Amino acid sequence: ILSSMADTIVLYPSPGIGHLISMVELGKLLLKHRPSFSITIFITTAPYTTGVTAPYINHVASTTSSITFHQLSTVELPPTSAAIPFEELLFEIPRLNNPYLHKALQNISQKSNLLAFFIDFFCNAAFEVSSKLGIPTYYFYTSGASALCVFLHIPTLHETITKNIKDVHDYIKIPGTPPIYSQDLPKVLFDRESRIYKLFLETAVQMGKSSGILVNSFEALESRAVKALSDGLCIPNAPTPPVHCIGPLIASKDNGSNNDEHECLSWLNLQPSKSVVFLCFGSMGSFTAEQLQEMAAGLENSGHRFLWVVRNPPTDDETKGNSAPAEPDLDALLPEGFLERTKDKGLVVKSWAPQLEVLNHDSIGGMVTHCGWNSALEAICAGVPMLAWPLYAEQRMNKVFMVEELKVALGLAESTNGFVTVAELDKQVRELMDSDNGKAVKDQVTVMRNCAKAAIQDDGSSCVALEKLIESWAKG
Ligand code: UDP
Repeated sequence: ILSSMADTIVLYPSPGIGHLISMVELGKLLLKHRPSFSITIFITTAPYTTGVTAPYINHVASTTSSITFHQLSTVELPPTSAAIPFEELLFEIPRLNNPYLHKALQNISQKSNLLAFFIDFFCNAAFEVSSKLGIPTYYFYTSGASALCVFLHIPTLHETITKNIKDVHDYIKIPGTPPIYSQDLPKVLFDRESRIYKLFLETAVQMGKSSGILVNSFEALESRAVKALSDGLCIPNAPTPPVHCIGPLIASKDNGSNNDEHECLSWLNLQPSKSVVFLCFGSMGSFTAEQLQEMAAGLENSGHRFLWVVRNPPTDDETKGNSAPAEPDLDALLPEGFLERTKDKGLVVKSWAPQLEVLNHDSIGGMVTHCGWNSALEAICAGVPMLAWPLYAEQRMNKVFMVEELKVALGLAESTNGFVTVAELDKQVRELMDSDNGKAVKDQVTVMRNCAKAAIQDDGSSCVALEKLIESWAKG
């Protein structure tokens, strides 16, 4: 009976766009390998919204018939949730959804041949449900292999470092990565008594017990980390589940937004080849008004052309609200006369730009990035060298990997509280665009772009890794 039922894979992404897009791309990739698969993607409510998720889901649902979205129940958050850090909510919402998840998984297993369940690490609570149901459960890690080395090493760090990380002022050695200065580790790991720390610790332990971990990277990009993972060095006292490098998974160009019309692309058409610096800081990056003023001056002084995505400065309730953030008032935020003075050299875009199209435009010569992993992969695949300006999540350690290990970016020196001065931005933009150092980064990015292309060819490392995984289900 089983063989007459559709082979189904269920994906359970975290709702942030950076996590969602790569999971959807994983679904599409599985379909490319096995067009007969049926893919179901579970969706939960997001604790905040950027306004881009719903249109994206609608687009995928209407264009890819083998992918079905299933909205798990809209759970009631406790009335105190406004005071809960949003990363905790990202773990908490899936936990509250567990009863619905249980029913949904049972339902699917009755009607189809459920081969595998892929979860984002924020959906860690789901592991308990799926393992009880005997469903092979894999984590899909949306950041890179180096970051995964750190993640899997959390339980070991917990045992070996007895102080709070925030009180350690030293380099920390983790297999597969260059030494990381303690303060560059994700903030969620700073305080061992905090709830968020415990959630990450628990998740790292569970991940080690899963059927496998998929990571959005490719072997040539992070060879040291990949080797440490496959040698089991990151979990010293227990076996490491198989780690499959199946990336780069980046958004397809056809992602539903009507980008042909976007003013910044027509503006880019008028700029010389490789002349423009693109500044964009992920789905949530924003700066204080003071920092925006400083950035504007740095860009103006550098004399380089720029395309800059500007958001409103953060407000206390921004990440908690469930409506899209307001559009910025550029005249009020930027230095007086800036837009007029730079109108021949620069374009400022409000809130959101079609990043993938921008990066692949011939006029782009460099990017200033917040070091979100999707942005890094997108820039690498477009052959664009980067300046690293990390803001949140695991981005500070991504910067260390990108600058010191992968050599696809130059750094920006920060003064206190991450502030970057006019002089520093000016100097580093010139360094990226005009110097031998910048040229070396550009060359390395070009090499990695070619490796990325090779990895996803039929005989490439990422393609072979996914094919082997799929074949293992038939045997199982
Ligand atoms: N993005 C975009 N336009 C913007 C900002 C972000 O298209 O103005 C996309 C970007 O291309 C990437 C994703 O949003 O695919 C952000 O993911 P990333 O992992 O870089 O950062 P996160 O938002 O998760 O911090």
